[in-house]
Amino acid sequence: MDPADRERYSRQVLFQGIGERGQECLLKAHVAVIGCGALGSFHAAALARAGVGHITIIDRDFVEPSNLQRQWLFDESDAADAMPKAAAAARAIARVNSTIRVDGIVADLEPGNAADLLCGASLLLDGTDNFDTRFLLNDFAVSRSIPWIYGAAVGSYGLTMPVLPGRTACLRCVYPEPPAGAQPTCETAGVLNAIVSVIASLQVADALKILSGNLEKIQARITTLDVWSGGIRQVEMPPRDPECPACGRREFSWLDGDRRAPAILCGRDAVQVHERQRTLDLGELKARLEAVGEVRANAFALRFLIAPYELTVFPDGRAIVKGTNDPAVARSLYARYVGL
Ligand SMILES: [Zn+2]
Repeated sequence: MDPADRERYSRQVLFQGIGERGQECLLKAHVAVIGCGALGSFHAAALARAGVGHITIIDRDFVEPSNLQRQWLFDESDAADAMPKAAAAARAIARVNSTIRVDGIVADLEPGNAADLLCGASLLLDGTDNFDTRFLLNDFAVSRSIPWIYGAAVGSYGLTMPVLPGRTACLRCVYPEPPAGAQPTCETAGVLNAIVSVIASLQVADALKILSGNLEKIQARITTLDVWSGGIRQVEMPPRDPECPACGRREFSWLDGDRRAPAILCGRDAVQVHERQRTLDLGELKARLEAVGEVRANAFALRFLIAPYELTVFPDGRAIVKGTNDPAVARSLYARYVGL
């Protein structure tokens, strides 16, 4: 390690668990952060300060004023300029640590681009807001034996779980299928910045253990906590399921694209999101969305206005998003307001 690095990272090198050897491992590591919202922007900043040598940030969204309450890396000028989050994050990190490599990639992680975008990363951090991408991440990580760390937060509640292929259960051992029905999202249930920081911190701590060569320090536990009610709980992850489609039978249906057909353009300035077939309770969805925008529903469809877009959601999980012809925008709006 050169003298500048030794000084810069001295407090981390002094920590026994890392030491000089661990720091050298961090400097040589390549981590991909998938999703650069509240969780991901914290991951990227913390890893950069810790001296992870190469960070790839993948995100499909733009900075909006409502992000600033919890997404530490962004500021008012990013929101005013509608900067892509991946680019804004890379620029902010370059000011924090100019000695490392940061690649900000503005893209929606999909089966078709996963191998390219995640190429070379030895660890994946989940900063996403939807199960589609998490199941894709799990398939990719398990198929290539790359560790990844699941994290999620909404309201005042969050959870995290490390997945070490070959050692621990994977996401599909724990959840064979994504949860049924619409899920609460930050757009409908709100979110406190405190829960996001705690969950992201726990993910970063596990990342530092893995990257510094302390894999044995990883506890195969699901940690859940609620910063409002104060409850913190850890349960052992279940054992690996030999019948798990992903890590048992090695059928990677999310990565092969069987599970996520692309959203199809259906006429001018509208996109049909049809990849999530499941039964939705439109009455329940209406109750959640009423706090956010104008919504009307009957037994056949729910119409939700969030300018400049209009979402029409059907009981079978389908939706038509008016106001865009970009499938990534439509998928993003769907994930935010309907939930995946
Ligand atoms: Zn599994």
